[in-house]
Amino acid sequence: MTKLVIIGGVAGGATAATRARRVDEHAQIVLFERGEDVSFANCGLPYYIGGVIENRNDLLVSSPGQMKSRYKIEVRLRTEVTAIDRSNKRVLFKKVRTGQTGEESYDKIILAPGAEPVRPPLPGLDQEGIHSLRGLPDTDRIKARLDLNPVQSAVVVGGGFIGLEMAENLARRGVGVTVVEMLDQVMAPLDPEMAALVEDHLRAQGVRLILGDGVKSFARADGRLKVATQKGLEMDADLVLLAIGVRPESGLARAAGLETAPGGHIMVDETLRTSDPDIFAVGDAVMIKDFVTGRPVAVALAGPANKQARLAADNALGRRSIYRGSVGTAAVKVFGLTAASTGLSEKTLRAAGIPYLASYTHGSSHASYYPGSENMVVKLVFSPESGRLLGSQIVGGSGVDKRIDVLATAIRGGLTVFDLEELDLAYAPPYSSAKDPVNVAGFVAANLLKGDLVNILPQELAGLDPDRDVLVDLRQKVELDELGYLAGAVHWPLPELRRKLTDLDKSKRYVLYCAEGMRGYLAYRILAQHGFEAVNLSGGYDLIRPAADRLALKLQQPSRND
Ligand code: FAD
Repeated sequence: MTKLVIIGGVAGGATAATRARRVDEHAQIVLFERGEDVSFANCGLPYYIGGVIENRNDLLVSSPGQMKSRYKIEVRLRTEVTAIDRSNKRVLFKKVRTGQTGEESYDKIILAPGAEPVRPPLPGLDQEGIHSLRGLPDTDRIKARLDLNPVQSAVVVGGGFIGLEMAENLARRGVGVTVVEMLDQVMAPLDPEMAALVEDHLRAQGVRLILGDGVKSFARADGRLKVATQKGLEMDADLVLLAIGVRPESGLARAAGLETAPGGHIMVDETLRTSDPDIFAVGDAVMIKDFVTGRPVAVALAGPANKQARLAADNALGRRSIYRGSVGTAAVKVFGLTAASTGLSEKTLRAAGIPYLASYTHGSSHASYYPGSENMVVKLVFSPESGRLLGSQIVGGSGVDKRIDVLATAIRGGLTVFDLEELDLAYAPPYSSAKDPVNVAGFVAANLLKGDLVNILPQELAGLDPDRDVLVDLRQKVELDELGYLAGAVHWPLPELRRKLTDLDKSKRYVLYCAEGMRGYLAYRILAQHGFEAVNLSGGYDLIRPAADRLALKLQQPSRND
């Protein structure tokens, strides 16, 4: 009989424990959890604070009683494992409340200790009212603060997914929210021009965004918190949420002499085995493999933690199950918008020196003539040689989640953009269009590879050559009046383009743009087939408008503001 000790009892730990029982009815399974609960829904915490989830008990996915009766798992709550004595194969533990210590022998261990919020040594950080959010005790403190005393304003430090989910949920409770982010964009996994769509939406919802600036210190005066930034801004707040990232809780593993990466993540092989053959590790604390590049990566997401946990349990109990890595698929709701990503981003590809092409397309959640359709922008990055899909980002309204999942599956399956063209996806007007946004993204990307289209990316626009490039706006006048246009563009609405052909100059390059890219593509086909050099702005004006500053582009402001 194998004695399996599991350290950490939430996403990875609880899943490993229950899987282990299904694999081996005879194993002795002991699970240690330092906190008050096992298997709670950390991903739901912001929504409980915001009141979307009303009942705290709904966050508790399982209980020690259920773990015992259904799975014969012994759960030791409020018990921290303080050391792993590998030579004697035992763990030492301490009861959190009483300080009482003890030890437990093991045959195998699965480590699932997770990651803790980063709390840098900033002056004044210990002031009351400055919170991090990891577990239910943090949640209870933040919620009590909101329930008991009026909170006018909050500063959320960090524009990652937890920061933005909290921004939305605080705003939902009537709190004025400022988000301070050290990077010059929110949502680091997104490329900057895609993040700009999220930022635009946040500002439209009344959230104040301070980008490219970090918090320097906190103080308290007149009963309120004073938050000072590195660039000299000062603001008052009743509540601060620190959400600037997480670091692996790997102290136990390090002290036991297990191999860790420079950032502290526990090294595991493809069976989730650490440098000790009897100890496995999963979740936020481990370094895994990027599915696309095969390079080491840390992915702090619940999905990978759960999947790793199942495989680690198999392997700890004598099976051989292989973890092939993660594509890091993630989605975040930001008020009415969804931002999602899978696979590699353009900036990751560039940093890794991996060749790629990129394209942007606009799509609708479902047929635009059926009520309630919402728009989305789809970005693909793919191999210039084979067309293999390397990554995708989507920002938009409803239906983003389903498209990112199709694309995540495509990456996992090694599909190319040519495959995306052909995917048979479910269609009826309430659900999609006969050409789903995933198909359309595939059409455009495949056009690039087939030579039917030459794109220019938004991030390349700032480098146009004024002597050679002619910037052409193909939209209708009313669109220019309402939304403005790129400074220096000539206005040739698409229907007039064929009449202009005789005036065009073959020594020039025509840089075409419309709202979304479709009219630009049509214009490209016309010009290319008449022997002119042209490029089409991928994603069009609607994509670059929110990102103009970031892309160093000058816009001519709208003449009509109604
Ligand atoms: P955890 O679930 O954090 O569990 C680790 C547990 O180990 C902790 O409870 C800790 O107390 C315990 N522990 C640590 N050391 C010891 C020890 N020595 N002895 C005993 N116990 C110990 N991911 C998504 O994919 N989507 C989301 O929408 C999402 N939203 C999130 C929202 C919030 C607010 C937070 C905090 C996280 C969110 N995540 C989300 C991330 C997701 O929750 C984590 O990736 C996932 O929980 C990681 O699982 P884990 O088992 O590695 O760690």
